[in-house]
Amino acid sequence: VTAVLERRNALERSDNRGKTEVLAANLDTLAIVIAPEPKADFFIADRFLCAAALMGARGLVVWNKIDLNRPEPPEIDQYRALGYAVVAVSSKSGLGIAALAGELGSGNSMLVGQSGVGKSSLINCLIDTADVSIGGLSSASREGKHTTTASFAHHLGTGGFLIDSPGIRDFAPVIN
Ligand code: GDP
Repeated sequence: VTAVLERRNALERSDNRGKTEVLAANLDTLAIVIAPEPKADFFIADRFLCAAALMGARGLVVWNKIDLNRPEPPEIDQYRALGYAVVAVSSKSGLGIAALAGELGSGNSMLVGQSGVGKSSLINCLIDTADVSIGGLSSASREGKHTTTASFAHHLGTGGFLIDSPGIRDFAPVIN
């Protein structure tokens, strides 16, 4: 560490002992990734969108794995109605990745969402030099395995950075 920059905002969560943990700072966009598999937990998505609003970052909804051709859940349209941008993508086929890159622009972003929704795969699509290990879905529960254990900021060619988040099974924003 050569310097600690000032935080203009921070994504924080409380751990189960009531202590606050900073997951990322200086974010312009918090991108909530949702997929048909593992089954979307909209309660977690809502909490991340609340956290984005609380910290003053833009909430972006990313509907991944569209190559699976599953119907879009009605909640996604509700997000559109609330004014959130929604990008439909597939990290497998590459569909929508350019649109996602456009939404992230040159600012600082973080991909969040349940384990297994494809965050690491999306980072690999968005950043040529990234080589993030991809976890399979455990066949017993169809829940994602936790492969990401530490946050990592990947520098974007556009000037900003994109943060890979630790496997977050649950998330509650800190309300001061
Ligand atoms: P993370 O836990 O959110 O980082 O998810 P991963 O990127 O590790 O992906 C979890 C699983 O979903 C892996 O088996 C990926 O191959 C798969 N996956 C990721 N993106 C897609 C996609 O766009 N389509 C399909 N069909 N599978 C995907």
